[in-house]
Amino acid sequence: MTINVICGYILFAMAAPNIDTIVSLAKRRGFVFPSSEIYGGLGSAWDYGPLGVELCNNVKQSWWRWLVYERDDIEGVDSSIILNRLVWKYSGHEATFHDPLVDCRECKTRMRADKIDGKCSNCGSTNLTDQRFFNMMFRTLIGAAAEEDDPAALAYLRPETAQGIFINFLNVQTAMRRKLPFGIAQVGKSFRNEITPGNFILRTREFEQMEMEYFVKPDAEHSKLVDEWVELYLEWFKGLGISGNNLQLHEVPEKELAHYSRRTVDIMYRYFPERPEEERQFEELMGIAYRTDFDLRAHSSKAVDSESQRINPDSTEDLSYFDEAGKQRFYPHVIEPAAGVNRTVLAVLMDAYSEKTNDKGETRVILKLAPQLAPIKAAILPLAKNKPEIVGMAKAIKRSLQPVLRAVYDDTGGIGKLYARQDEIGTPMCVTVDHQSLEDEAVTVRDRDTWEQERVEVAELAEYLQSRLKAAAPVQAAGAATSSLDI
Ligand code: ATP
Repeated sequence: MTINVICGYILFAMAAPNIDTIVSLAKRRGFVFPSSEIYGGLGSAWDYGPLGVELCNNVKQSWWRWLVYERDDIEGVDSSIILNRLVWKYSGHEATFHDPLVDCRECKTRMRADKIDGKCSNCGSTNLTDQRFFNMMFRTLIGAAAEEDDPAALAYLRPETAQGIFINFLNVQTAMRRKLPFGIAQVGKSFRNEITPGNFILRTREFEQMEMEYFVKPDAEHSKLVDEWVELYLEWFKGLGISGNNLQLHEVPEKELAHYSRRTVDIMYRYFPERPEEERQFEELMGIAYRTDFDLRAHSSKAVDSESQRINPDSTEDLSYFDEAGKQRFYPHVIEPAAGVNRTVLAVLMDAYSEKTNDKGETRVILKLAPQLAPIKAAILPLAKNKPEIVGMAKAIKRSLQPVLRAVYDDTGGIGKLYARQDEIGTPMCVTVDHQSLEDEAVTVRDRDTWEQERVEVAELAEYLQSRLKAAAPVQAAGAATSSLDI
């Protein structure tokens, strides 16, 4: 496990030993706070702090840039969270979006039946109730005067972003003059009344998804396309700094497939490294599903079932596609990679976590975030905060860097403490302004991972930092590149 020795410190190249390590770091350093804490919290809800919101934004931006900007076949949308209730009727969610629920008769714990092996996850008892189904959509009422039991006022918070894409398929296709194959991407909040939320931001009732629906012809090689997207996403995750050793594929068995899916492959991450191997170390990070033409047909006015009955008498639009080349009209089929922002952030944090321990047993945490994800790219630190010239120069450098990259100024401690703090939040570069800087217009740049220092002229600093950050960005596979590193 020991990798090397830097300045008397022994570096342990390790991911976080468990989720709790990240919970504590996240709260201490301003990434994630328990929500509503001053009122006793709200079961498994979390708020993202100053650094957490930056990290989430960087993950979402990296994803958006990769799919919408760098590829030529994907458009973006941002649909409403509350949609017409009929969307959820015809998507099948009203009837089937439920989880099996059981209660333990001994300790009264409530659990998802499909996440346990017939034993209570709390006390191990097998004395469980029969399973019953529980619809996970959050209900709300539309209209100021709506009565509690008025079905016309009933609406749901979306449990997935995907339906907002399907109902806009024709709008996007015609407005953007798209031909198959092409995709539509969306990132945004989804809500599920989970039976057993928990494990920090891994499973919450309110979360964020990055979903993309890739529309193809009915005779495309769907299974091969699923495999291709799996490969692309594996490379994307590795590009975010997640080790391939902590990723695993899971072919979802047929009997566990969602109602719309003919094949689903989950990419799993080792969220529970502390568990013995036989005890579920891995949990789903994302899923790639072949949804057939289920959704577009379900929302179409003209689609019929096997008895020639209209599937959807409420829809006013037919979401079919006319293929000029083949002179054929059909409902496109869909490959859907659906990833969670929060689960990605947790995996990124766990994999970036490392510790250095010195001879005296003192441990320093270093968060080795990929530069494009780091909340802060450079911290500008004055060596003496009681010297107005040094402070003034450091603040001026911060201001001059800000248009180019995210920089902060910090003088709230001695230089050792300031370095340690920046290491712990994953800042790739620290820039120190000292007495000498006033003479030679140069500063010291310290690298987070090697702690090596270099003297750089202030006039060249912005360019120098940008090139160092770019050089540190992981190489990505073709089609999955983060080539235009946004710093
Ligand atoms: P699980 O089996 O873990 O409940 P799922 O298969 O129902 O997940 P999908 O419907 O495939 O999840 O949603 C796509 C992605 O959205 C998931 O892979 C995950 O990253 C994210 N996600 C789903 N539910 C939650 C949740 N309750 N909290 C956080 N992220 C979630």
